[in-house]
Amino acid sequence: MSKSLTNQQAMRYNRHIVLPKVDLDGQEALLNANICIIGIGGLGTAAATNLCASGVGSLTLIDHDTVEATNLPRQTLFSEQDVGISKVEAAKARLTAINSDCDITVTAEPFSAPSSTQLSPALKQAIERADVVLDCTDNTDSRDLINLFCFKLNTPLVSGAAIRFEGQLFVAIPGESRCYACLRTLFESPDLSCVEAGIFSPVV
Ligand SMILES: [Zn+2]
Repeated sequence: MSKSLTNQQAMRYNRHIVLPKVDLDGQEALLNANICIIGIGGLGTAAATNLCASGVGSLTLIDHDTVEATNLPRQTLFSEQDVGISKVEAAKARLTAINSDCDITVTAEPFSAPSSTQLSPALKQAIERADVVLDCTDNTDSRDLINLFCFKLNTPLVSGAAIRFEGQLFVAIPGESRCYACLRTLFESPDLSCVEAGIFSPVV
């Protein structure tokens, strides 16, 4: 039941389709993709905006926070009127306005597990159904847990991090590459969040 591009969509994504590395097949792959974004902060909003606008068919957004005024300098998906409301709900409304063809599922719960062997049904299903998970969280506990379940459920993981003027990007493919826990053995746990250390907005 894979979807094909409508004529209208083929025109809309023409600037992609003329790129030989994307072509119609690439744009149709985006249309049929299901991408799960965990953490709708600086990284998550930037990723969600670009993926939704680029024609990704399904997004799942996971975050339990509400929008704060301190988010606005870099989380440009949100506006002043969104302060105090659920990040995933505010994001869904804005993303739907950008691309109403994008099917957006939201889960307003923290990414945590009662035990390291168990996830809530909504979180488990989100990872299981996704073609790729984007870890856009801001703490190592969530990162370790997301890594663990991506490998358990065989879902590719893209892990992003940003602090001060620096960024880190790591891609893990279960069965093919090392995992995020392997990468973590190479550096000390920073445990200074961007609240204490700061983050320069354009980095995200
Ligand atoms: Zn590993």
